[in-house]
Amino acid sequence: MKREQCFIAGEWVDNGAWIAVDNPATGAIIGRVPAMGREEARRAIAAAAAAMPAWAARPAGERAAILQRAAALMLERADALAALLTQEQGKPLAEARGEIVYAASFLQWFGEEAKRAYGDVIPAPTADKRIMVLKQPVGVVAAITPWNFPAAMITRKLAPALAAGCGMVLKPSELTPFTALAIAEIADEAGVPKGLFNVVTGDAAEIGGELTGNPLVRKISFTGSTAVGRLLMEQASRSIKKLSLELGGNAPFIVFDDADLDAAVAGAIQSKYRNAGQTCVCANRFYVQAGIYDAFVGKMAAAVARLRVGEGTSPGVDIGPLIDERAVAKVQRHIDDAVAKGAQVVTGGSPAPDGPRFFAPTVLRDVRPGMQVLEEETFGPLAPLVKFDEEGEAIALANDSEFGLAAYFYARDIGRIWRVAEGIESGIVGINTGIISTEVAPFGGVKQSGLGREGSRYGLDDYLELKYLCLSLA
Ligand code: NAD
Repeated sequence: MKREQCFIAGEWVDNGAWIAVDNPATGAIIGRVPAMGREEARRAIAAAAAAMPAWAARPAGERAAILQRAAALMLERADALAALLTQEQGKPLAEARGEIVYAASFLQWFGEEAKRAYGDVIPAPTADKRIMVLKQPVGVVAAITPWNFPAAMITRKLAPALAAGCGMVLKPSELTPFTALAIAEIADEAGVPKGLFNVVTGDAAEIGGELTGNPLVRKISFTGSTAVGRLLMEQASRSIKKLSLELGGNAPFIVFDDADLDAAVAGAIQSKYRNAGQTCVCANRFYVQAGIYDAFVGKMAAAVARLRVGEGTSPGVDIGPLIDERAVAKVQRHIDDAVAKGAQVVTGGSPAPDGPRFFAPTVLRDVRPGMQVLEEETFGPLAPLVKFDEEGEAIALANDSEFGLAAYFYARDIGRIWRVAEGIESGIVGINTGIISTEVAPFGGVKQSGLGREGSRYGLDDYLELKYLCLSLA
């Protein structure tokens, strides 16, 4: 399944220039992909624009059938896709397989939703008028995706775009291009028309410049860091493109005195350590109420000490490598800063012996406001535990961030559950659960975590324009 060429205008192509791709567990080069640029991006955009009208004109049921065929192919090949994903990204094989199933769920879900892009008839203000609203595809979409979920972050964009009748040019992360190219192969086999979906790998700034500047592109859908999202927003402002931005997070995880402590620890482990802490919705700051603080620290440390670090292909491994050595250095910097300011390492605290990109899962206690680990997204297996006294204080601490993607809390009192759920400034709130991602719910952030929602029926709206028809009977 490892394709070493890009997919442009329905053909596998290269330009003779290459980017090497490595396995983060071993550092070994696993293959190469083309180092393409502006010219190839332009060609891909033109191909998507040319293929789009015929696709948009097809009955929704036909588009739906192709999406569902693509989902079925992904599931049939889940093991091979998972192996490819683990090889280029590092996560444990079971997690990689889970991501493939999750990625296929978007194709399945939006295949169904394609048939339900209903318009509207609005009672007119005068007897001689009729008012209707049509939903039409927004146009060619440019998607730019990150390395941490190399399959799901693509289908979460591709599926609603195709369902709505749009064409797409994708620039995947240069760190994890093989999963993206395998998805292109599956889309092609499923019957997505030639040229409608294109994958271009290469120079991010150059390709990004073309995608945001080209007038044929009507929408940019980006998942990645807030810094790059801001840059793309500035670039896209020149031609007023629609934007969906799924950006960074800094998720709070609050545990109140009345919580089920064991459930809270289990949820914390799931939320924090999945994908070695490299998820945008993973808990980044833990606030634990004073009455249960010490008990929570003890149970959390014991659970974290049981997590097994190693190469994603080894059976029983919970924590794979981080994506690169810069990521390892960031985790260490957050620990060093916190310890210098008075925090204590309860477990972990240093790189793991498995290789230069592995870090031991870590728990810090006595963490206080002002430490870097609370202000920045760590994107690694580090849980900083802060003590708080009152409910209002916990909400204020949770909201003390420029980000607002996901938040979690554990409590039993129903009044508290409503107050906290309503008070937290966040696009997603997990209540007594650490797992919130599903294709049926709207995923996205507030504040500097982004714009728009992906997944669910709201996710289809982001790829549709409203057209209001005013008909005079006179
Ligand atoms: P990143 O912003 O460095 O890269 C994301 C993508 O943007 C990559 O494809 C990269 O090549 C591309 N890119 C970089 N510079 C560019 C430029 N100048 N022009 C055009 N494209 C450019 O992010 P990353 O390190 O790959 O991913 C991690 C970040 O993504 C984290 O901040 C994480 O929170 C965020 N993320 C958010 C969500 C979400 O749904 N909100 C999901 C996953 C990841």
